[in-house]
Amino acid sequence: MTRTYDSRKRILVTGGAGFLGSHLCDRLLAQGHEVLCVDNLFTGNKRNIYHLHSNPLFEFMRHDVTFPLYIEVDEIYNLACPASPVHYQHDPVQTTKTSVLGAINMLGLAKRLKCKVLQASTSEVYGDPLVHPQTETYWGNVNPLGPRSCYDEGKRCAETLFFDYHRQIGLEIKVARIFNTYGPRMHEADGRVVSNFVVQALGGDPITIFGDGQQTRSFCYVDDLVDGLIRLMETDQTVTGPINLGNPVEFTIRELAEAVLKLTDSKAQLVFSDLPADDPRQRRPDITLAQQELNWNPKIELNDGLPETISYFRKLLAEL
Ligand code: NAD
Ligand code: UDP
Ligand code: UDP
Repeated sequence: MTRTYDSRKRILVTGGAGFLGSHLCDRLLAQGHEVLCVDNLFTGNKRNIYHLHSNPLFEFMRHDVTFPLYIEVDEIYNLACPASPVHYQHDPVQTTKTSVLGAINMLGLAKRLKCKVLQASTSEVYGDPLVHPQTETYWGNVNPLGPRSCYDEGKRCAETLFFDYHRQIGLEIKVARIFNTYGPRMHEADGRVVSNFVVQALGGDPITIFGDGQQTRSFCYVDDLVDGLIRLMETDQTVTGPINLGNPVEFTIRELAEAVLKLTDSKAQLVFSDLPADDPRQRRPDITLAQQELNWNPKIELNDGLPETISYFRKLLAEL
């Protein structure tokens, strides 16, 4: 879409070289906006944004959001934060700093610029939920001291900061609670279940199921999720969230393994090992609020999203 100088926004996407962030950059550029992608490349990869380098509306800045950032933009999407348990537990102190100091810096930036700021929060704020499916009014069941706490509590504190900036100085905020999302450009070694199973199946390696595989997750395809984020950013200032974004169709991890084996035509074996500490047993979003406030519904089913993801990894693994 071509825009005039008046209708084109300059949009900051932190974590823009990551999985979700790079798809968000693509979509905002396709809408004719200017995008400044800020990323320290901890889990992100230049490969995810190579195709954007010749686009005059795209700019990449290598920067760590735990440090202040003085720039001029019209909107901020704050996605910077490692998202897979393997990566966020690699340096837990840095994970909390990224969530908390990153939020403070992006909120301070939004305050100076008087602009909207969206936070990529997570279903992990519900911890190992005692309410099912999860609604936004549920306060969660989170261990503050365990190996997942750096991420869960960091994201919870970031939400607190967003709402305090909103109440204290009237900042326009948008908080999205993102549930498990998958698709092309997930990091091949980031340890999340979809990328792990696809990479294992394509390599003929054993499929590693943690626990008995009866724990559940609900998987949202990346295109649907990005659509939800943009719809949330475009709401009027009365809509702050938190709003759940995710696909409400729930699968056991064993069912996911079987779907991946079938679609890859792989004969890989299933191997079972211990469930990691504090691993949530069940997770499914209640998306009534997103349906009402954003008129949003995920459209892409696992059976359609998985083949796209499998083709991406097939090509990637052949190149590596
Ligand atoms: P990702 O790891 O692919 O992307 C995160 C990006 O943030 C990477 O490019 C990384 O290099 C960058 N980053 C990390 N620390 C940074 C720092 N200190 N300064 C600047 N950049 C930094 O993960 P993703 O799946 O794309 O997740 C994006 C956001 O969405 C995260 O905030 C995550 O918590 C949230 N989220 C994702 C999911 C999901 O299923 N994908 C679910 C819930 C929440
Ligand atoms: N900040 C930033 N860019 C800006 C404005 C602020 O990175 O354009 C950071 C700065 O590090 C500051 C933080 O945001 O510490 C919070 O800003 P705020 O104005 O809320 O607080 P203060 O400056 O009073 O600490
Ligand atoms: N999981 C698994 N095998 C793997 C990776 C993950 O069985 O190789 C399980 C994990 O224990 C969890 C679920 O799959 O129950 C989703 O894990 P992921 O790390 O993708 O996300 P999260 O736990 O943050 O939802």
